[in-house]
Parts: sequence; structure tokens; C-alpha cells
Amino acid sequence: MQYHLNGFKPGNYQVSDEAREPALPPPLLDLPKAVDVLIVGCGPAGLALARQLADFADIKTCIVEQKPGPMLFGQADGISCRTMEIMEAFNSSERLVKEAYPLHQNAFWEPDAQNPQRIKRAHKVADARLGLSEFTHGVVNQARLHDILLDGMAHSVTHLVPHYNRRLLELTVDRDLTQDLQAYPITAIFERNDAGQSSKVETIQARYVVGCDGARSAVRKCLGIELQGDSANKAWGVMDVLLVTDFPDIRVKSFIQSKDHGAVMVVPREGGYLVRLYVELDLLGKDQRASQLELGVDDLIARAQRIMNPYQLAVKEVAWWSIYEVGQRVAERFDDVPAGSPGDLIPRAFVAGDACHTHSPKGGWGLNTSLPDTFNLGWKLAAVLRGKSHPKLLRTYAAERRKVAFMLIDADREMSALVATRPSAGKDAASAKTGTAEIEHFIARQNGFIAGTSIGYDESWLCAGHRHQALADGLPVGQRFRSAQAVRVADGCPVPLGHLNKADGRWRIFIFGDARSPLDAASKSARLIAFLADAETSPVRQYTPAGADIDSVIDVYAVFQQQDLAIEQMPDFLWPAKGKYGLRDYEKVFQTNETYDVFEQYGVDRAQGCMVVVRPDQHIANLLPLDDHAALSRFFEAFMLK
Ligand code: FAD
Repeated sequence: MQYHLNGFKPGNYQVSDEAREPALPPPLLDLPKAVDVLIVGCGPAGLALARQLADFADIKTCIVEQKPGPMLFGQADGISCRTMEIMEAFNSSERLVKEAYPLHQNAFWEPDAQNPQRIKRAHKVADARLGLSEFTHGVVNQARLHDILLDGMAHSVTHLVPHYNRRLLELTVDRDLTQDLQAYPITAIFERNDAGQSSKVETIQARYVVGCDGARSAVRKCLGIELQGDSANKAWGVMDVLLVTDFPDIRVKSFIQSKDHGAVMVVPREGGYLVRLYVELDLLGKDQRASQLELGVDDLIARAQRIMNPYQLAVKEVAWWSIYEVGQRVAERFDDVPAGSPGDLIPRAFVAGDACHTHSPKGGWGLNTSLPDTFNLGWKLAAVLRGKSHPKLLRTYAAERRKVAFMLIDADREMSALVATRPSAGKDAASAKTGTAEIEHFIARQNGFIAGTSIGYDESWLCAGHRHQALADGLPVGQRFRSAQAVRVADGCPVPLGHLNKADGRWRIFIFGDARSPLDAASKSARLIAFLADAETSPVRQYTPAGADIDSVIDVYAVFQQQDLAIEQMPDFLWPAKGKYGLRDYEKVFQTNETYDVFEQYGVDRAQGCMVVVRPDQHIANLLPLDDHAALSRFFEAFMLK
């Protein structure tokens, strides 16, 4: 798709440039008096949480934002493969894939050895993330991601819409009420910002609150949570521009280091014409803010021009620009449970996204870490609020995501140092080692982290260890369930298995059958299916409410190696009758063939098979032998409620 040819225009990119208009903010309605979950902030973290909770008719959610309406420009633009996968879980990846500019190459530019005041391309390589996911890393205005999430919320069963123009003033947690699950221990006070009602104050009670209110989070401050780490010492300028240039890699993500003037990163943007330039600025003094540098967009353009000498940058339009500084910091806690508290204390307030980790924009990790934060928390809140899981589940959010935040900070420190390293060009070939070659090595080494696909959770009662990993070494326990295609038995259609893991709060069990045909009642696959369908200790039987569809809590799929299978030979459990008409579900049984061999791709032991338990956030929670029915029951007993 090409757009923005005659000027940047925000709004829905599916609409032509000529016709596109920014969406109008929704009408201002009073805040509700009491809700189950209060979300503060409409960034990627807040909206991803709201998108998830909006699908539960029995959960009352309210999301509040200080700005007057949806975002139109700027901020983050890199959408990692993992974020794309999460958007697929919301049934929304297609729009994002279509609109985003896919990144297939990285270019590295350094001072020319012959004439160090000029830059020269050092090398150009394939993007190291290719192949880690069925999705490609793409670049699109953060506002479009917001729009797609907002659309999903508005069209959900709860028709959830943000309350704009409200700034959080104060938030308190009544400590006497936090351990009573039915209580509303949170009180939040908001002030209206809009011209008509400015200074009007509204109060809302909530059972849980999640501060998704960015780096200067008011929720975090009200909870008394400190940020720990380095405060900012480096400012960067960022601008989205339409320009005419003779720089040949303007449509390639490029890392450019000049000899004397600093570094620039070029990011080709959606629509084929727009480009983002990150421009390295000066070191900040202690307690100095980027705004005090008193630089404007013309200064950024002039600096970029000096760095990219001898190429010319004729900037025709600046769609958005900003100068900002970010320190590498992580919140001491991600919830309101004081350190050292007993393990069964229930948290009622959380911080997520930039509210609990800040870092530089260079790796494009802000959005791509913030959104998975609440993708981790959302299903847990839903499971506890709906009485399906023990509230101790909520403690695992901080444990799992704080570790990721530290990985992010470490990666960002390393990347920041590399991008800002001054190359000593023109000396010898080894000098390249200190310049862009190191960035290239870093990207290749950290590709799984940068793509978000290798992020895994440590062993806990919610995530079993690697004891049986050899049964499928391509499906590491703790990491997200990677998608690969298998063929549906009922209709021969190839289906990406990862896309079966929707953000609907359900658990999934994937059965990868052993060497014996599942038609043989004595095979391990057949016996596991019989156990799941009928045994008293079957987690499916135990946790599915009477009268509900059999897959409404735990959704079971089977993938077999045998070729001579037909849907009518399968046990009813694998093509169950569902819904008010008792229609049969034909989409749970798969087989491999030469083209779509998931056993090969997942490294499944063909003789023994295995079962893989997948959490509602697509991370693999357990991998077990097909006949270890007792371990499967024990796993769910640790946290599920009947
Ligand atoms: P945010 O996106 O910051 O969202 C927080 C929301 O909370 C905001 O909408 C804010 O208005 C709202 N809010 C804050 N306080 C209150 C309050 N008291 N009451 C009500 N609402 C409140 N990342 C990149 O990768 N590349 C970039 O170039 C880049 N540029 C950036 C430029 C700027 C100016 C900023 C602020 C961030 C930039 N980032 C960039 C970072 C990236 O946008 C964030 O990492 C990402 O958006 C984090 O998502 P979040 O939902 O946690 O927080």
C-alpha cells in the first residue's frame, strides 16, 4: 500500500489519502462510579489490556486518558514479530500487516576511509529477525495500532470506549480491603481537562487498577513505587518526514555513524514515502532535561544533514517530531505488594509498560515490551475476576514481566553504547569492529529478543520446567507457542496452529500423537483423549461448568502423523457438538503431510508424541508425555478453581 504521497495524513490507512480524516473522539460521558478494572492511560499497554478485557461480558472495565482523543501521530513505530502475533490473537493482524512497512534489510554506514567527513555504506544484510515468526517486523505509526485496538474494543461484547480528557490526580488503596476479593479497595480521583468542564473532579472505585500511564506514571507515584537505575543522560531527536534525498538506503533501516557529528538511524515508514530519522544529540548535564536544550526541528534536520554528508536531505514536510531523553530504569515493584510479603497476598494495583520500565527508543522496544506486559496480565485478571483461577495467579505478573524489563534494560544499554560509539574511521579494517559491525553482531545475537519471540518465563507452578523438553525441542517451555502449519483433517485446509491461540482467556492443549494410530484404542493418543473426555480427574471435565461448551475453558487440539484419518473416525471429544444448536466443531483435528510437517518443525519425537499446554497468552506452560495424565491434572490443580 502506498500513501502520504502529497503530505502526511493521519487516520485509517485503508481510506485513500484524499478521503482520509482523523477519527473523532467519542462523546464525553460521566465516569462510572465503580468498576472491576480501572485502566489509566491509552497507550499500547492500556489499550491492549482494555482490548483483552472488553471481550468478557461479565467484567466491567473503564479506561481513562488525559488527552482529548485517540493519538494521531508519533511515538513508537516498530511493530515486532511478537506484537504482530499478539495482534493475531486479537484477530487483527491482517490490517497491521497490510499497513506496516516490512523490514527485510539493515544497512550500516560508516565514515569513508578515504575521506572520513563523508559516510559510505559498510554493508547491507538481511534483517536477522526473518524466519523467527510467520510475521515480519514492520513499521507503522503507533496511532494505527491504537486505532485497531480501539476498533476491537468498540466492536466487542462490552463496546468499550475510553474516557478521554481525564487526568488522574490521586489514587489510594484501602489496605483493609485488599484481601477481600469482592471489595473495591481502589479509589481514584480524576480531573476533567476539556474546556467546558475543566477542573470538574470525578471519583471512581475499582476492584483492581492498572497504571498504564507512561514514564511519568501518576499511578506509580501514588503507589509509592520508585524507579531504579540511571536517569537520562542522552537526548535524541526523532522526526517523521517526507523528503527528497540522494541517500540510496532511505527505504532500508540504516544505522549511520559519522566521524565527528554523531549517529542517525533511518527507519523507512509505512506508505512508501514517509521516513523516520533518529538523530543523536548531546549528552545532558545532571538534572538537565531535553527540553532545556532549546532545539527545534530545523536543528535536527541540520544535524542529520551533517551526519549524512555528502547526501542531501531536502525535507518537504515534517509530520511529527520530538526531542526526548530516557534513562534506563525499572520500577522496584510492578504491583502494590511490598517486597518480602507472603506469597498469598493478593495484589490489587499494578503498573505496566513505560510506567515500570524506561529506556531509549533505539531498539524499538518500548511499545513491543509494554503491550506484552498487559497481554501477560489481562488474562490473569480475567481468570481471577471470573472465579476461574486462584488469585495467587496475579502475583506471577510481576515475577514474569520484571525479569523481561531487566533483559530490556541490559539490551538497551548495550545497543545505546554501540549506536553512540564514535568510529575511528580511516585507520584500519579493525576500526569497523567498534562501529556498525558491532551493531550488526548485536542484532544477530539478540534477534530473538528484538523480535520478542525468544522471551520466556522461568519455571514456576504456572510454567513447568524443561524436564520433558526432548519430546519437542522446538517448543521451549516458557516461550510463546511458535506457529507452524498443519492440515485440517475434516477439509484438507492448511492452518497455522499458532493462530488457534486466541486472546479469549482459554487454555489450550495440543496433542501431538505418537507412532501408533489414534484409531487404535490402546494407543497413547487415544487413551489421553479418553482421559480428557471422561475421567473424573480430567482438567477439562473438572473446570468446565455444567452446560458450557466442552472447550470453553480448556480447548483441546490433536495433530497426528498418520495419513489415513477421517473426521468421522475421531472420538466425539475431538469434534464436539457445541452451541445452542449442537453444531459440530470440525476444526480441532490435524495431520501432517510432506509440505506441512509440524512434527519436523517442532522437533516432536515421532515415536512418543507429547502434549503441550498453552496459556491464554500463548506461552507454553507445560510439555508432558502423552501418558502422564496425573501430571496434567496436578498442573491445573495448582491454580484452577472448579
Ligand atoms: P504511553 O504510550 O506513554 O501511554 C501512556 C498514556 O497515559 C498516554 O496516553 C498518557 O497521555 C496517559 N497518561 C499519562 N498520565 C496520565 C494521567 N495522570 N491521567 C490520565 N492519563 C495519563 N518509542 C519508540 O520505540 N520510538 C520512538 O520514537 C518513540 N518516541 C517517543 C516519543 C515520546 C514523546 C514518548 C513519550 C515516547 C516515545 N517512545 C518511542 C516510547 C513509546 O511510545 C513507549 O515505549 C510506548 O508508547 C509505551 O507504551 P505505554 O502504553 O506504556 O505508555
